[in-house]
Amino acid sequence: MIKRILVRCPVTKKLNVTGLTVDEELFEDAKLKPKDVPCQHCGGTHSWTKKQAILAR
Ligand SMILES: [Zn+2]
Repeated sequence: MIKRILVRCPVTKKLNVTGLTVDEELFEDAKLKPKDVPCQHCGGTHSWTKKQAILAR
């Protein structure tokens, strides 16, 4: 299953769509570098790592 990757905004605590997708089965082993994503909620830019990534249901 291809899932969208979300990260939680540290300011508003809301989920932010990163625009990236990942195959759920490959995610465990996937090597994701820290990325910056423009935040839809607070207007800032957040750097996130795989540890913080949340897969959308
Ligand atoms: Zn934010």
